Amino acid sequence: MTTPPPCTTACARPGTAQEILHQVFGYDSFRGHQREAIDHVTSGGDVIVLMPTGGGKSLCYQIPSLLRAGTGVVVSPLIALMEDQVTAVREVGIRAAYLNSSLDMDAQRQVERDFLAGRLELLYVAPERLLTPGCLALLHRGTVALFAIDEAHCVAQWGHDFRPDYLGLSTLAEQWPHVPRIALTATATRATHDEITERLALQRAKHLVSSFDRPNICYRIEPKSAVKDQVATFIRTEHPGDSGIVYALARATTEDVAQHLRSHGTHALAYHAGMDAEARRAVQRRFLAEDAITVVATLAFGMGIDKPDVRYVAHIDLPKSVEGYYQETGRAGRDGEPATAWMAYGLADVVQQRRFIAESAADPLHQRAAQARLDAMLALCETAQCRRVNMLDYFGEHIDPCGHCDTCMSPPAAWDGTVPSQKLLSTVVRLDRERGQRYGAGQIIDILRGHHTPRVAQHRHDTLSTWGIGADLNETEWRAVVRQLLARGDLAIAPGGHGVLVATPASWQVLHGERSVSLRRNLPRRPRLRPATGGSHVDAERSTGPVQVPGSIPARAEDRGGASSSGPTGRGADPAPADMAIFEALRAWRGTLARDRGVPAYVIFHDSTLRALASTKPTTVTEMGRIHGIGEAKCKAYAAQVLAIVAGEEGEPAPS
Ligand code: ADP
Ligand code: ZN
Repeated sequence: MTTPPPCTTACARPGTAQEILHQVFGYDSFRGHQREAIDHVTSGGDVIVLMPTGGGKSLCYQIPSLLRAGTGVVVSPLIALMEDQVTAVREVGIRAAYLNSSLDMDAQRQVERDFLAGRLELLYVAPERLLTPGCLALLHRGTVALFAIDEAHCVAQWGHDFRPDYLGLSTLAEQWPHVPRIALTATATRATHDEITERLALQRAKHLVSSFDRPNICYRIEPKSAVKDQVATFIRTEHPGDSGIVYALARATTEDVAQHLRSHGTHALAYHAGMDAEARRAVQRRFLAEDAITVVATLAFGMGIDKPDVRYVAHIDLPKSVEGYYQETGRAGRDGEPATAWMAYGLADVVQQRRFIAESAADPLHQRAAQARLDAMLALCETAQCRRVNMLDYFGEHIDPCGHCDTCMSPPAAWDGTVPSQKLLSTVVRLDRERGQRYGAGQIIDILRGHHTPRVAQHRHDTLSTWGIGADLNETEWRAVVRQLLARGDLAIAPGGHGVLVATPASWQVLHGERSVSLRRNLPRRPRLRPATGGSHVDAERSTGPVQVPGSIPARAEDRGGASSSGPTGRGADPAPADMAIFEALRAWRGTLARDRGVPAYVIFHDSTLRALASTKPTTVTEMGRIHGIGEAKCKAYAAQVLAIVAGEEGEPAPS
């Protein structure tokens, strides 16, 4: 690491938060609760910030760190990402460093000296490092401007990302009672919020809770059939040439699916915990640095990845909670431009997740909590409501139907499933009561459909009174009935992990005709508007999803407002064809520079900034400095090259 320049301003910058926003970051106005959070922390108060991914949490601690004397200490859980975080803030001219186990002794000593000499405005530290006696002593010897606890939901023991080290962070309140603390997370459940408050001793903090709606993400969930083909078709028809993440549960699946996608023309790389650290790091680097890479990953991938232009997140296995699903899908479209969250799920997923819970070493209380989280996830998959209404409801927020998720675009027809539900439940109950036998969905459906198999013959299931009474529905339709009954709690999977179906108290109300069962009908497949690039593969997919009209999704409302009110930034709009050449030239320049310097491309400029440069074609440094996302440091560093490219003076740069 290079040494930051000496501190010339006693590490508190002159000016107001607004001035710093403009000079350092190149932005015109604060978003949502940013201003309140910044003002409160700057004046010494504690804050809890709940803001969705892409909402702009970082500025909430970065700006107060610049305004207050001393160094802002940022607790961040992922060592692998610290270097990128530091690179990004240095790029805008902030004096920053990190301390973690990847540094050699000399580099570490240098960071410590810089901190003690007041030369650092931001210091990123992993929680396990921070809590060592040596590090705590170091911090006591210098001046701490504030503590920022990023990904604060990691402190929640009931949550999905629990890190035991986070529990120790309550010591910061005891040891530095007069230093403000700001905890930030994109997990919005009430329970997590309460745990953060309590475990980080933030009872006196100001709570700033933003809307968790992400209007630029289009949510779609469809039944799983041939999932490799489904995901390949989804990417090829809707996101060719885009960056995206495909999440799978098993390591082997990630390899297999990445291979399949490559054979279908998508530039896909696998990422999982079984790969060695160097290989994983290489994948992460390429994903950040290059355009148009799909990473097929286990859930370990992505937390804290600040890549703003991930255009889609696909799940090919059922996530275990709505919290996790929301966070993973939230990695799409941080730049506020249209993005897709797509999932395929089937009955086998439910059985598998149920098995994971049953086989986990957790105590019964934790198992029950895990089951409740899975139930909520299932309810989201099977809802006939707007996906977003359902999801935000879970986080305690009420919104109107979004108008562009799959269920809004093609509201699933409801049908009266009372009689089929009774047939199915009665088969489950009869087998159990009369014969002491319990089965998974496959056997139950064979019985209902009157399907002769060796197993049916062996157990004489063709003598049951429900034999063949469900021949009017096909296998797929019956599976949809089972999934929906599970999601409604009218049927359950027995603990033990074999996918065995059992009745619940609610089943009896249905069986006794006390309650009717309204089910959603899975719609027939429809062709999509955007044509497939290499021959139609539409038959391979089974989509309940809508026809997507590219570009029909509203970008983040405030960004739209900002674009029109903030002068000639041209944000959000594609450059006119004539400007496209400039845009491509800028992109090529950025790609070469990013590769040479070993930094992610977006750290230099976002796509939206390049687009604004291409359409406004600044001719002076002052004009360039007015463009969204260009602060003083970047203007100074890049004006000469950028202005030359915009003026068409640069020769054809090497393609990126
Ligand atoms: P989070 O940590 O909440 O996911 P980030 O802090 O990474 O979000 O911010 C997301 C993106 O929004 C970043 O590219 C950031 O530069 C940009 N951003 C943040 N605040 C503003 C603002 N006030 N105006 C314009 N862009 C902003
Ligand atoms: Zn909707």
